[in-house]
Amino acid sequence: MTDRTSARPDPGPIGARGLRLFSVAGVRIVADWSVLIAFGLILVSLGKGVFPSWHPQWSAALSWSVALAAALLFFVSVLMHELSHAIVGQSVGIPMRQVTLFVFGGMAHMESEPPSPRSELLMASVGPLVSLALGVGATALGVWLTPGDLLQQAGRAADPSSLLAQLGPLPTLLLWLGPLNVVLGLFNLMPGFPLDGGRVLRALIWSATGDMRRATAWATAAGRVFAWLLIGVGVAMGFGLVLPVIGGGLFSGIWLVFVGWFLDNAARTSYQQMAIREWLAGVRVSDLMRREVVAVPPDITVATLVRDYMMPSEQGTFPVARGDQFVGMVSFADVHRVPRAHWETCRVAEIMVDGAALRTLGPDDDALDALQVLANPEHHQDQVPIVLEQHIEGMVRRRDIARWLSLHGPDERGAA
Ligand SMILES: [Zn+2]
Repeated sequence: MTDRTSARPDPGPIGARGLRLFSVAGVRIVADWSVLIAFGLILVSLGKGVFPSWHPQWSAALSWSVALAAALLFFVSVLMHELSHAIVGQSVGIPMRQVTLFVFGGMAHMESEPPSPRSELLMASVGPLVSLALGVGATALGVWLTPGDLLQQAGRAADPSSLLAQLGPLPTLLLWLGPLNVVLGLFNLMPGFPLDGGRVLRALIWSATGDMRRATAWATAAGRVFAWLLIGVGVAMGFGLVLPVIGGGLFSGIWLVFVGWFLDNAARTSYQQMAIREWLAGVRVSDLMRREVVAVPPDITVATLVRDYMMPSEQGTFPVARGDQFVGMVSFADVHRVPRAHWETCRVAEIMVDGAALRTLGPDDDALDALQVLANPEHHQDQVPIVLEQHIEGMVRRRDIARWLSLHGPDERGAA
């Protein structure tokens, strides 16, 4: 299990789909479908493996019920960890409006880089502290609920498996959940970006050097070393390595390899996104928009749109303009929704996305705003129309931003 706070404006594949659960303190909670995999794995490993081995006398129904409660509470504790990032983040000036639960745990989406090392330090450290507090609290409660004579036997170092077997369902659950949260808190404190500990490291280097870019580069390097360490340990486990506490086995090994691979990806992406933000700072939309944009009238039929506009051009999405006025956009996807038999009668105005429903920008707006619109899955936009006084001036796609960066951005050979 791992977790990270994402510095990417782009939530990527995670967050784009998924089930919106509810909102807490202005933070959307979204469950990615992949969370079901993790939930299923935990449920099965507890219900079929851990609890029956601790409690051979428990009925299958009891094992599975405690396993279900434990798996649910585990995700509640992951959620509390992430929510603490989001709530503290918002209070120190880092907009964080979404938390996503996914196969490796959870993440809180940062919508911009932290304004200062101090704000990042507070935002990053609160998550592991919450996990550690939950872990110590649950463990203490579990011990407190354990009958005194059992504890005395434990003190005399009696056979641990027979002691475990005598625990009731609630102490069993708490003594599984507590230590796991402690492990979760400690894991997230590992000093590799973008883990929380890596963010703490970045904040410290940033505050010492005053150079956020260098701080990110160092913390990212540490994150990649840690990720490859996990991959190495995972592979070794596949070949029989057994570690104290963590254990061994092929399944754990494969899991560690995946976690390490994910972290390495996340470290690289977070670094690139930070670099892109830095390069785009101060750039105006008009510097990178495509100006050669053909607009279509709303009254033509879909057949005409396809024959006269779509087929002869490379353009995939067309602004729709009535005279000089921008009124909407129409794309291949909109055409696909119209049965071919209706192409001769259906008008563009009937199938276009209305201008009022689109995010548009002006030519003097910040290029970063365009990136944010494109990256936000809420907008469902792969193009941003650039509109000045109702007149379409140009369009911006991700590709246009990439083109600008390849000409003005970091030297490929020198890039990290
Ligand atoms: Zn965290």
